[in-house]
Amino acid sequence: MLEVRDIDVHYGDAQALYGIGLTVEQGELVTLLGANGAGKTTTLRAIAGIRPLSGGDLLFEGSSLSRIPAHRRPGMGIALVPEGRELWPQMTVRENLELGAYDRSARAHRSASLDHVHELFPTLKDRAGQLAGSMSGGEQQMVAIGRALMSRPRLLMMDEPSLGLAPKVVDQMFGIIRRLHAEGLTILLVEQNLGRALEVADRGYVVETGTVSLHGTSAQLLADPAVRAAYLGL
Ligand code: ATP
Repeated sequence: MLEVRDIDVHYGDAQALYGIGLTVEQGELVTLLGANGAGKTTTLRAIAGIRPLSGGDLLFEGSSLSRIPAHRRPGMGIALVPEGRELWPQMTVRENLELGAYDRSARAHRSASLDHVHELFPTLKDRAGQLAGSMSGGEQQMVAIGRALMSRPRLLMMDEPSLGLAPKVVDQMFGIIRRLHAEGLTILLVEQNLGRALEVADRGYVVETGTVSLHGTSAQLLADPAVRAAYLGL
């Protein structure tokens, strides 16, 4: 479904990605792992079209994304739940969700999508009129995931959805990720919590200083002595 082909990305003169390559097949849950500053967020932003490529290519369902601007990618089925959520705090939960369905095809299915989001996150139905900025961290993360789902994605990218949440809320979040995967959604998940991510993922890529250092099935990565030493403290 997605092929990231040797992409380079710069911030000004500073190179952040050096030939990152990865694939995500239809229905898979793939995780991108690695330390702070390794380049995981930049990879997702490049796929979403928010950061331009300075080398390489992105193929989505066999076609290059090089000429597709960021605002058109949700309409193609690519959605990003950004790091830090990026909600509109002065708007209600319902308004934030509806803004996820701005593309014409998503707008036509808005009511069914909203029902699906409310079924996944019943709290968001009860709190529909509350300002998003006044919700707890976990609830805001639910709004951010819900907003992405409103665009009816075929590829859902999530950037550290568990960051800063209480352990019980992290459990809920991973439960939701598992459920979305079981419903057949293709997911690319960035996580620093390697142990938790590999519990739910089919495969993973370890990113170090802007390049993929290791990849494999979750079982292979969990059994890898270097991964265990560097990321699991074992
Ligand atoms: P984190 O978990 O901390 O978000 P990450 O793996 O997602 O880490 P990125 O945020 O993609 O890493 O950062 C990759 C590199 O790009 C880092 O060296 C970082 O300092 C640099 N970088 C990221 N954003 C910017 C920016 N807006 N301007 C300049 N450099 C940036």
